[in-house]
Amino acid sequence: MTAKGPERITEARGILAALRSAFDAGARALAQACLVNGRLDARKLDAHQVASFDLAWTGADLLAAETSLDALDAGATALDIDLALLFAADAAAASLPRLEALYLELGLDLSSLHAFAQDPRWDALRRAAAGSQALERAGRGVATSDGDVGPRRLDEPHALAQDAFRRFSADVVAPLAEAIHRQDLTVPESLLKPLREMGVFGLSIPEAYGGSGPNEGEDTLLMVLVTEALSEGSLAAAGSLITRPEILSRALLAGGTAEQKAHWLPRLAAGDPLCAIAITEPDYGSDVASLIFKGTRVPGGWKLDGAKTWCTFAGKAGLLMVVTRTNPDRSAGYKGLSLLLVEKPPSDEHEFVVRQEEGGILTGRAIPTIGYRGMHSFELSFQDFFVPDANVVGGEEGLGRGFYLTMAGMVGGRMQTAARACGVMRAALRAAIRYTADRKVFGAPLADFQLTQSKLARMGARLAACRQLAYSIAGLIDCGEGRMEASLVKLLACRSAEMVTREALQLHGGMGYAEESAVSRYFLDARVLSIFEGAEETLALKVVARALIERALDAQAPAA
Ligand SMILES: Cc1cc2nc3c(=O)[nH]c(=O)nc-3n(C[C@H](O)[C@H](O)[C@H](O)COP(=O)(O)OP(=O)(O)OC[C@H]3O[C@@H](n4cnc5c(N)ncnc54)[C@H](O)[C@@H]3O)c2cc1C
Repeated sequence: MTAKGPERITEARGILAALRSAFDAGARALAQACLVNGRLDARKLDAHQVASFDLAWTGADLLAAETSLDALDAGATALDIDLALLFAADAAAASLPRLEALYLELGLDLSSLHAFAQDPRWDALRRAAAGSQALERAGRGVATSDGDVGPRRLDEPHALAQDAFRRFSADVVAPLAEAIHRQDLTVPESLLKPLREMGVFGLSIPEAYGGSGPNEGEDTLLMVLVTEALSEGSLAAAGSLITRPEILSRALLAGGTAEQKAHWLPRLAAGDPLCAIAITEPDYGSDVASLIFKGTRVPGGWKLDGAKTWCTFAGKAGLLMVVTRTNPDRSAGYKGLSLLLVEKPPSDEHEFVVRQEEGGILTGRAIPTIGYRGMHSFELSFQDFFVPDANVVGGEEGLGRGFYLTMAGMVGGRMQTAARACGVMRAALRAAIRYTADRKVFGAPLADFQLTQSKLARMGARLAACRQLAYSIAGLIDCGEGRMEASLVKLLACRSAEMVTREALQLHGGMGYAEESAVSRYFLDARVLSIFEGAEETLALKVVARALIERALDAQAPAA
């Protein structure tokens, strides 16, 4: 650590603490504004969506900045410190106008925020951490980092796993990724087979059920590290493969019958069958409680009728987890939903038809997309499609628990999506580092220019902060906490991936826009991250802001 390091870190902590207390006051006021008869009111919450959105983003930025600073220990390098301070300065700069808007809307006294803006400590931090000299220094550091910024104090088993999967990603995934993307191919067996052998499909499944996860407790960090490493090679063809078994296996562990766990978990862990998750419908995506896809009880099981959409990997999958309305009374909302498991033959094609002897039909068509190619996302149409009672997750007792069981998998799914975003960011940053070192403009390497260094510095700071936050929340989840934080880091990392891949592409100039440059794929792939696993707006409003508001209310409640 440099001599100035500890001082600057203390200053930055002071700045963040001042903003944190302004944030808490804003959250309390917003909570009060959304109460009717002492309870949070949906209409009032909707009337304050913009303020809630600002609250969620400010909460995300502040937590990431605080976590990055807290992680700086005696072993921190000068670059670690530069990047953590830069992220803190940028997070504070982004938070201030958001808090001002929130205070204005709620009629709060702005003087504390004005005082903050005029605080000389704030100017000092900005100059020291985000001034041009600091950016140059940090940018030069990032240029020699190989994109390995942020946390690196992993214990031996985790470090070994990270190394092994990074190597696999570079040696096996990356060489296939371009062809899969540009020719819109299906993920090949040459990739799936070694991944099966490495146990990636069973990461969240306890060893007792044939998985590679611990029998007691969780190892969320391992799942994050593996996902991140695979996503560096390809988001669509490798990094996202684990998300589906993660969601289904957690649903089965949370609510499957003993027979279902014994039957399906070892198979899912082995990646045979592969699986897919069908929640979204043509008319309902974010609003899961309103899903209408219909299951009708028949002797021995259920008949499925209706459409699902965006069901990723439905072709290659042999098992679909289909969220189904089994209670015809729509006013039951999410309590009328159940999880039904549909078995089907796997297909590599972009279209498929499954016909049952009883007359049921399932058709699938891959929706052409601008990126995220390899697994393909399918529109599905079911007509009279029979599913036996044995395939209702949880059996008779599982009826009506579909929403709850889906959510059991979503915490892991969101952590994975944050990890996927970090992997794509690292790939983009490494590409930018390589290109800016090689490319000469106006007689000098692009990397020698101050503006380039500032871009590399900010890309590095963002990646380091997101990785640090994801790793730290993984630890919380293993202790049974961190549900809201998983959504928060998903929000931040996915938007950050859009920003980092945008800059990486921009630094490539015209070549960035060429299909043959990997950065154009990173840019297109990153764009989907803020849409699925909870669209950004829905996640920010309904999960993150809502939880922050509830926490503000709890903090105000008199002790029992
Ligand atoms: C490539 C890809 C793969 C996917 N894979 C899967 C999969 O495997 N399985 C699956 O089930 N689904 C999958 N999805 C679907 C994805 O989860 C949905 O697209 C997502 O949940 C959003 O739903 P929607 O598309 O219906 O958008 P809508 O819910 O119609 O939302 C449209 C916009 O409105 C915003 N919005 C929604 N509600 C509000 C509100 N109350 N206030 C303000 N703004 C709001 C949203 O954030 C979004 O910006 C995938 C999608 C894509 C693009």
